[in-house]
Amino acid sequence: MVIRPFLPVNHRMLVRRQASFYTWGMAPYEIELVGGHPALDFLNTVHDWTEQPRRDRLVTFGDAVRFGEAAGVLERVEVRALEGRDGGGELTRLVALRDVLQRVTDALIGGRASSEADLEALATTAVEVASRTHLERVDGRLRRVIDVADAGSAVLRLRIADAALALLASDDTERLKSCPACGWFFVDTSRNRSRRWCSMSTCGASAKSRRYYRRAKAARAGDG
Ligand SMILES: [Zn+2]
Repeated sequence: MVIRPFLPVNHRMLVRRQASFYTWGMAPYEIELVGGHPALDFLNTVHDWTEQPRRDRLVTFGDAVRFGEAAGVLERVEVRALEGRDGGGELTRLVALRDVLQRVTDALIGGRASSEADLEALATTAVEVASRTHLERVDGRLRRVIDVADAGSAVLRLRIADAALALLASDDTERLKSCPACGWFFVDTSRNRSRRWCSMSTCGASAKSRRYYRRAKAARAGDG
């Protein structure tokens, strides 16, 4: 299966990396790209969706820009153009978009309807995406592009929204899953669709150790 976000993004978007090391805000933090799609990796910028209060990995607009580069949504040259900007309210809009996308994606996976308000919000964003999109001829074909010169600090949010809308309208929704432990999202590309955890080194490993603990406890109970 190949996921084709139709666009704006460059080819690197399709190249998945397991993890990149960056410094987020004050603390060193590892950006984990386990979603298999930049829009899902964007949803996974919350430490754990089941946890309250939420630990957000997007604390500043700079954090969001660094995520954009790690996820292949922004080119290095674009990162340089955005670096040092406060984003002019874009961080708030990114977080709001992430909330809406989280609810809509979660509802799709769970086979539930989304709220009118959430669908309305996404539709409004889709209009904004369209208003900032222009066409370029690249290698004999047309490519839809959202560029920094036109969209400014909104470029990251609009590209993510565009990629997310493409994903959520595609056949790949059948393979969308969320981790039962932390609520992170991913595309299950395994042949028999057996992937359960966001990552075997985190949630998968702790589930295994819990099972081990239960077995050990049951064995002790059996002894006694
Ligand atoms: Zn997880």
